[in-house]
Amino acid sequence: MNPRNEPYAGPVRTCMVCRRRFPKHELTRHIWNGDLTPDVAQILPGRGYYRCAGEACTAKFPKRAAAARKGKGEGKRDEA
Ligand SMILES: [Zn+2]
Repeated sequence: MNPRNEPYAGPVRTCMVCRRRFPKHELTRHIWNGDLTPDVAQILPGRGYYRCAGEACTAKFPKRAAAARKGKGEGKRDEA
């Protein structure tokens, strides 16, 4: 993990739908809080699920997050 010519050095997260990496602040964090809940302030405890602002990702995200949660249990990465 050593990206060349990467001016951004802050925290990076992966969109769980398209698997592309983005600066954390460009992604929307969600957690399971009985339901999939956007964590706009990114301060809620628990496993976070990130998605980018892409249309396809926005559309697929609830399914992916639900599948990830069900598939391998909490605290694990999704199956991809
Ligand atoms: Zn995405």
